Amino acid sequence: MPGQTLAVQMGAARNVALARALEVPGAEVIVAVARPVAESDPPVAREKGEASLAHLTGRVGVLCRAIERIEPAPETAQLTLHALRRVRIGAIDEQHAFPTAAMSAADETDGEDFVARELAARVLAGVDELAEAGVTLDAAVVPVLRAASDAPARLADLAAAYLGFRVEDRDEVIQRLSVVERLRFVTSRVEKEVARAQVAADVARNARTRVERHQREFFLRQQLRAIQSELGEGDPAERDADELAQRISDAQLPELVLREAKREAERLRALSAASTEHQMLRTYLDWVLAMPWTRTSGASHIELPHVESSLDERHWGLREAKERILEHLAVCELRGGEPSGPILCFVGPPGTGKTSLGEVIAQAMGRPFERFSVGGMRDEAEIRGHRRTYVGAMPGRIAQSLKRAGVRDPVLMVDEIDKMSTGLSPTGDPTAAMLEVLDPAHNHTFADHYLNLPLDLSGVLFLCTANNLFDIPGPLRDRLEVIRIAGYTAEEKVEIAWRYSLPKLFQQHGITDHDLQFTDEVLALLGSRYAREAGLRNFERHLASLMRKRARRKAAGELGAWVMDTARLEELLGPPPHAAPDADIDPAIGTVTGLAWTSEGGELMTIEALLIPGRGQLMVTGQLGDVMRESVDAALSYVRSRARDIGIADSEFVQSDLHVHFPAGAVPKDGPSAGVAVTLAIASAFSRRPVRRDIAVTGEVTLRGRILQVGGAKEKVLAAYRGGLREVLLPSLNATQDLRDLPAEVLRRVVFRGVGTMDEVLARALLPSADEHAVVVDDDASIVREGLGVLERD
Ligand code: ADP
Repeated sequence: MPGQTLAVQMGAARNVALARALEVPGAEVIVAVARPVAESDPPVAREKGEASLAHLTGRVGVLCRAIERIEPAPETAQLTLHALRRVRIGAIDEQHAFPTAAMSAADETDGEDFVARELAARVLAGVDELAEAGVTLDAAVVPVLRAASDAPARLADLAAAYLGFRVEDRDEVIQRLSVVERLRFVTSRVEKEVARAQVAADVARNARTRVERHQREFFLRQQLRAIQSELGEGDPAERDADELAQRISDAQLPELVLREAKREAERLRALSAASTEHQMLRTYLDWVLAMPWTRTSGASHIELPHVESSLDERHWGLREAKERILEHLAVCELRGGEPSGPILCFVGPPGTGKTSLGEVIAQAMGRPFERFSVGGMRDEAEIRGHRRTYVGAMPGRIAQSLKRAGVRDPVLMVDEIDKMSTGLSPTGDPTAAMLEVLDPAHNHTFADHYLNLPLDLSGVLFLCTANNLFDIPGPLRDRLEVIRIAGYTAEEKVEIAWRYSLPKLFQQHGITDHDLQFTDEVLALLGSRYAREAGLRNFERHLASLMRKRARRKAAGELGAWVMDTARLEELLGPPPHAAPDADIDPAIGTVTGLAWTSEGGELMTIEALLIPGRGQLMVTGQLGDVMRESVDAALSYVRSRARDIGIADSEFVQSDLHVHFPAGAVPKDGPSAGVAVTLAIASAFSRRPVRRDIAVTGEVTLRGRILQVGGAKEKVLAAYRGGLREVLLPSLNATQDLRDLPAEVLRRVVFRGVGTMDEVLARALLPSADEHAVVVDDDASIVREGLGVLERD
């Protein structure tokens, strides 16, 4: 800008050539702003990066005097130029090493003086505002500009030079020969610059106040701490954090856990105590500290004789279960206390002592006992926990149980493993998680999502319980060592009552056998007609109900013993809900006593078949599943194929409709084991030959009449016994395999017959048609009837 002195460094070839050719000091050059190289330039020029200068003709440039020249590096030159004044550029000659131009004077036009002054004042005011908004200007600039306030044209040039205008803007200033125009342009640029600087200053100021507030708080806190420590009080949050750190280092955490806990505790220190994150983190750390990472029960040695005597002390019978438990624990003991191999799983109806076996095992081993149910569980997170990022996240059941147990080697009982829902749900498969838990090869690094640290479950003695073996998801069943508990007969219930239930219940109710006295007869009645099911829950509930009634009167001051007899029992508990066992055993046509096996244990199941005049159609009703429906079809086909042998005229099948009905009973049933009973009922209905109702039957039948093995034979036999039946026909394989450890009482009182074909069943259970009935006497029948005590009636 005119008036300015500046050192200009040059690298372009033609500029360097020019600089070298000049006579320095003294030579004069024109400085002008050229356009950049463009497509329109000749290729040679483009290569060198030198635009044609023709467009400068007619424009304004600045005439400068060269004062000094140096060559700071090869192929460069530096000229110190003093800018003199504006000139108008004429014709340009570019034929030589450097361009030359003709020039003429460029005269300024002044315009209205007061307008110029006014604009000059605005420029100066703008400069002040820039300084105020924090734009750093060279210290010399302001006085220089102020000094030029009387010469507006010069002021405009200097402002453009020193206030950081871009090259294009400076060229604009140079081009304007009208002083007023020039000032207008400069004013607009300066004011724009001021606005920009002010916005920037605002932003900076806001940011600063925020930072300052934080710092202020920080300093205040520091001071508060200093004051509190002077007063010997200590900041509660700080104290809390210190305490936590102390607890962490005292907790004897494994290396990995310790590192994680320390890191999270440091993070906690930095968080405000009121924030949700602080609370979440705090809860997490409490969980981590509460987990028994290394704490053990201290019971290193399993005293097998002690376990054995404890099991006997608390449980009657259950010989096989006790045996298997002891074997399992023996292996455990030989491995130094680490459980291994398959997991024990008690399978049996409710109330048969599964839980209490677990409790006794834990007690005898000196380990805490915890249980949780996985029944109805559909979400993997219930076992593994939710990730900590969820609101209200919690560790899974496994981690929760371990925390409650307080040691890393408790006895954990997983209940209702047969009721866990299988299959892939969107929330993950709980069975898969359970598999990991129960697998000794994997469970030393069980991953709980919430804790996010590997939990070592290898010390835990897992036990499982289930009601129905076949509902346990397949892969899980492979991991389990199943111990079946079939249920108790009324006699066994009496025995258990005398030895275990009554003493326990007397104590719980604050009365003794001086207040309430039982007899075998009453207890048997209770076990057979009030609480008929396989387990003991209902039985004990009835006993407890009697005790409460007695306790109430005792509290009211009544002395003396209540001696329970049948009448008294009925008076206190109401009439028995179940019919006397041997009520309904007269032979009947089309009615068969089958045996079902449900999660409640074994059950008697009556199946009825009825012929009605019609056109050979089949109707099946009642509460039953697909498998049972199919066995009806198969049974009908079999009976038709053997019609002649059984004594059925072929015409029967087209003249009548057959209706087969399965009465509901308490629990839904399904399975192929009703085959024998259905076939028998249908054969009886068509042949009009009565079926012996004192015989219970079970078994699956093939189309050709072979009888196949079924599940739950032991439970079914017990049900038959409880129901008062004294003969059971069951598949030969079941008869040889499943009857070994039935109670002696049952083996003595019930006649078992293994059958291999339907023919044998028909021969045994189907009586001759009604009119011939009186004449035929079965030689074995006398034994059977004797057992029932109904011989006199016949
Ligand atoms: P489950 O877990 O199989 O449903 P529990 O273990 O809760 O059954 O048993 C129910 C009740 O029956 C408990 O009071 C238990 O002590 C008692 N009980 C079960 N089996 C026996 C047994 N064989 N001897 C003594 N008491 C038993």
